Amino acid sequence: HGVTGILAVQGAFAEHAAVLDKLGAPWKLLRAAEDFDDSIDRVILPGGESTTQGKLLKSTGLFEKIDAHIKAGKPVFGTCAGMILLAKKLDNDPNVYFGALDAVVRRNAYGRQLGSFAATANFGQSGSPDYIADFPLVFIRGPYVVSVGPEASVETEVDGHAVALRQGRILATAFHPELTDDTRIHELFLSL
Ligand code: GLN
Repeated sequence: HGVTGILAVQGAFAEHAAVLDKLGAPWKLLRAAEDFDDSIDRVILPGGESTTQGKLLKSTGLFEKIDAHIKAGKPVFGTCAGMILLAKKLDNDPNVYFGALDAVVRRNAYGRQLGSFAATANFGQSGSPDYIADFPLVFIRGPYVVSVGPEASVETEVDGHAVALRQGRILATAFHPELTDDTRIHELFLSL
């Protein structure tokens, strides 16, 4: 298929590019609206600072490009701040960005001091062809999902909180697969 556009206005975009290199998948950094050309068939929204990313999305004109991509039902993968940008509603922030993912998401949900930790959990429904067992989860002041609407499904839970969702071709993780050596979630994304 085509090229993965990686939002690169702020945050951990280089780490996603490194994973795609490992998989031999072409990518392009999205820093300006002109970068979003016809070769782009999927988009990664990396971790970082969602408020800053939201402002830069608007000022660069990339917001409209990516919004149209998502509304067309094309694949998008948001990690951490990217999950925040995708959510229909945040429960501790009045902003809404793409508003595409049928869930309420809480920013900095684990607190600012103890917000970074590692865990291991499964991704997906056991028995499904996309099931990923024992995925290493890295959290850095990440969000979690407070409630999930009927359009989205929970793929991973940690301590009773949903931390990965899927909704059609939208994937969102509160954790950072790009900061591990495990490429399975990126492979799943590339298969969408
Ligand atoms: N706390 C960040 C935010 O709310 C997200 C953290 C991350 O992406 N590592 O934007």
